[in-house]
Amino acid sequence: MSTSRPPGPGPAAPGSAPGVDREFVRRFGRQLIVPEIGLEGQRRLGASRVLIVGLGGLGASVALHLATAGVGELHLVDPDVVELSNLHRQVLYTTDDVGRPKAEAAARHLRARDPNLRLRAETTTFDRATAVERVAAVDVVVDATDNFPSRYRISDAAVRARRPEVFAAVHRLEGQFALFDAATGPCYRCLFPEAPPPEAAPGCGEAGVLGVVPALLGTLQAVETLRLLLGWRGSEATRLWLVDAESLDVRHVIVRRRSDCAGCGPGAAESPMPEEPEERLAAPGVPEGFRFIEPRALSEELAGRRPPTVIDVRESAERALGSIPGDRWIPLEALPGRLSELSDAVRPVVYCQWGGRSERAGRLLAEAGLREVRVLRGGLDAYAAEVDPSLPRL
Ligand SMILES: [Zn+2]
Repeated sequence: MSTSRPPGPGPAAPGSAPGVDREFVRRFGRQLIVPEIGLEGQRRLGASRVLIVGLGGLGASVALHLATAGVGELHLVDPDVVELSNLHRQVLYTTDDVGRPKAEAAARHLRARDPNLRLRAETTTFDRATAVERVAAVDVVVDATDNFPSRYRISDAAVRARRPEVFAAVHRLEGQFALFDAATGPCYRCLFPEAPPPEAAPGCGEAGVLGVVPALLGTLQAVETLRLLLGWRGSEATRLWLVDAESLDVRHVIVRRRSDCAGCGPGAAESPMPEEPEERLAAPGVPEGFRFIEPRALSEELAGRRPPTVIDVRESAERALGSIPGDRWIPLEALPGRLSELSDAVRPVVYCQWGGRSERAGRLLAEAGLREVRVLRGGLDAYAAEVDPSLPRL
């Protein structure tokens, strides 16, 4: 579905600058008089195109704010229909929309707010085959999805289409967001090189969420998108913002580009889209060289007389969010060169966020001759779920 209504100015108001119509001035007047925006900035927004993937709590909020701010063209993609349980957080929809495709309902509500808005609303998935083409057709892509495969797909497409991506995710009372600029890196894969198993990443339906959290994070995504379109962003470092609605604590960690990143490393932009993250096999059995340890068993050992040496192999941005008290930190990349630091390790336990990288680390330690190597099953995510809820689940 797309509108045929042409953009652009109507008849000029008497005494106004050429090409500036009365309705445009009245609709956006309060923005036009902000010195940092002005007529030029508002026109720039009107000439901009933004793709929003996902029209749930985040997407509904982003779409609403970008449309009312005067972004000229929105491309909306979501295969789902509106459900009654969506309404507490997906602020664009009403009870009458229940059962209707979100893309269509969103387009209708947005058009009612501004009939000049150009819309392309698609009730489809953001599939791999068309991902790069869809992102290349706009100036900015907004990741408003709720699942990891889509996040990797959007990030990989943004690198290849050389478009900036505004990412956000929410979980219960917490949210995070970041701008990943394909021109400079880092990308989403730099932040999370490892895809979690599907069961470790419940959506809002399973984990629950306070309605205002995605609405707030979506608003922040809209702010970041407007900053980009208005040219307000300088060469600032990439920050992952963390918002906690319970404490109203807002902080950030700097995300750095990884030189070996599969998403944005050397030659990645010219290569085909990487394979989708594979779903890791459940119950992998007992791999050679190390055993698994369950979160509760590790917690008991840590409280015992002879606690094991616990080693975090995650990246610095992940570690900044929280870690197991008393552990040591050696990122997986650096581990081969720093094995000597572990010569005194006692029954070592390695962990990462979800358990993928730590299996590689476990194998490495076992091959290096360390004894009684264990890997924390399910990673810090499982430890947070079963032992210590103050630790981060992403
Ligand atoms: Zn990257």
